[in-house]
Amino acid sequence: MSKLTATAPCTAHTAMVEKTGEVVAQPLLVRRVAWLTCLARELAARLVAARWNGPDLDALACGVGLDGRALPAKGWMAVRRLGWAVAPAVGVYVCDRVLRCTQEQAARALRLALHRRRLVAAIVTTWPQDPPERTSAEWDALRMALPDGVSAAEVRNRTRQIRVYHGEHGALPADLTDLEEPPKVAAQIVLAAADRQLVTLERAGSRGARLRVRLPLVASPTSAKDWAWHLLPISLPPTVPPQGTLCTPTLRVVKGRVRVDLPFQIPVDVAPATGHTIGCGFDWGVNTLLTGTAAWLAYGRVLSDGRPLTYDATGISAKLHRLRAEREHLATKRQHQQRLLTGITSADPRYEKLAAACRRVGVEHERVRARIRNLNRALAWSAARWAVDQARAANATVIYLEDLATLQARGRRGRANARLSGQVRGQIVAAIRHLAAKHSIAVVTVPARGTSKHCPRCGNGSSVLRHCPAPDRFTEKGWAWAYCPACGLSCDRDWGAAERIVSRGLLGQHATSTHRTTGARTISTAVEGNVARARRPRRPARAARRARRTQTDLHPRPAARDRSKNRPTPKRPGRPPSNSGNNATASRRVPDRRTVPAPTPTGNGQRPAGHAPQPYPAGHVRNSHHRTGFHHTKATPVLALAEHGSGSCYARPSCLIPSGS
Ligand SMILES: [Zn+2]
Repeated sequence: MSKLTATAPCTAHTAMVEKTGEVVAQPLLVRRVAWLTCLARELAARLVAARWNGPDLDALACGVGLDGRALPAKGWMAVRRLGWAVAPAVGVYVCDRVLRCTQEQAARALRLALHRRRLVAAIVTTWPQDPPERTSAEWDALRMALPDGVSAAEVRNRTRQIRVYHGEHGALPADLTDLEEPPKVAAQIVLAAADRQLVTLERAGSRGARLRVRLPLVASPTSAKDWAWHLLPISLPPTVPPQGTLCTPTLRVVKGRVRVDLPFQIPVDVAPATGHTIGCGFDWGVNTLLTGTAAWLAYGRVLSDGRPLTYDATGISAKLHRLRAEREHLATKRQHQQRLLTGITSADPRYEKLAAACRRVGVEHERVRARIRNLNRALAWSAARWAVDQARAANATVIYLEDLATLQARGRRGRANARLSGQVRGQIVAAIRHLAAKHSIAVVTVPARGTSKHCPRCGNGSSVLRHCPAPDRFTEKGWAWAYCPACGLSCDRDWGAAERIVSRGLLGQHATSTHRTTGARTISTAVEGNVARARRPRRPARAARRARRTQTDLHPRPAARDRSKNRPTPKRPGRPPSNSGNNATASRRVPDRRTVPAPTPTGNGQRPAGHAPQPYPAGHVRNSHHRTGFHHTKATPVLALAEHGSGSCYARPSCLIPSGS
């Protein structure tokens, strides 16, 4: 058994002062929590700013305290061991536990910065000749220097940032502190670092919890009397199961409400790293967001059931693309207005108007950014839910994905995929990992290099696929379709790649390695193997059975032409005259305007949050798409094995007819 941690967003609407029984209404509660979070932010920001230099970051990175002992994992303890004290302003009373929380927050910000620092150092030491296009040798050198699990998108963004710095200063940055200001600290209080002197949490029934926390009664408390214990009842969302263990939350104020970010842990079975026989492979599609296939291992061979699984989010990607363009436009406009504002004084008559316009653009920019963020997140969870549902329907115990770290933007692929940022892919991987863990399905990444280059049927690393625009245009150079001149395979490019991914995974599973801290599973060596598409023999249709029984031809030739025909074929009887009178040209088209209300959509109209498996209504399965929560997204419906006819294949591999193997 292992534990899966998730965070439930909860809201505290009211509170009660424990000593007096006084009920604290929402506005006052929001003010008191805001006082606490502002105190914490101020202290943490001061601590971060004071330690934003090379030597102090080195001290934190080396992991040894002043006393020569290793630094503890807990951030606030590490900060104290390093002797980095923080004190409130003169006259303000803050208990030691609040200081702990601020130190924890500062330590988390600084430790995150350490990761960025390693990344920047690796890029700077292996700075390429031509920054936008690294050669293979330069990529290899960079990979050696980089920390584990850094995606190509991160490398690209950091490279861009360093290039801008290089352009402005004429030299590469010596440290992260040259490149960036101290990280911004959010207005929140990380209560996880405190103990019973500041916070307690207990469950109240299956759907609720009771949070006790000491809050300040004034903006700048001067003594212990200005603090009081508050009792905050919290109702838990349905995603928190009754057996979930609650952990100490983080408090912050969001849109005039007290937001309680409540982590909880649920027990899950550990998915084994090896010993998988049925798996699903997913490719980051060029034509679609995700393309996958289910496959199984039989007698050392990989067999696939020949059913492509696609999650096509072209509409959403286009929308995201438009929104990104809008965001860039607003950012440029804002920068321009700010430049203009710095050029004039506040006494200028144009100042007021320009300042108001600048504020307006700023708000709009922020809203577009939030829209992109929300859409990215919703899309990621919807796609991840779909992928995990497909794996469960196929009885798969493992999901194979391309390793984002080895997926390099090169050539055309980079441009074609620019519509969907690497960040969304990272979110999808994280969401798939989370959802798969709930169902004890392992998620393993395999090397991405060459998955769509070689033929999945006869390739084995030698036969190279030809890419063309469509199945009827083999001679042209294209992108979406794959054609193998050696064996004649002709299939969607991403589907072929998904088959190669699943075969690399299933055949190379003995080489699966598990990351020590994150638990992420990776196969770093590519084991190539062909994939046979196998179909179960279908029972012959009635006409075929009859033909066999009666020893007649199933497809008899048409009788010889009737030579006696000496007149033209009579016309078919026309359609009955319609009421409009003009029956000859009566149109069969549906009316342009709808005369009755549109049918009510099935489902409750909500986007699936991704937490629960999506039940598919019986009767809607045929000719229907998976409910993704987006209007313009099409995804292969999730069908259990029995429904698409390959159910017994896994049990009886002898009945398979591999095609083209
Ligand atoms: Zn081939």
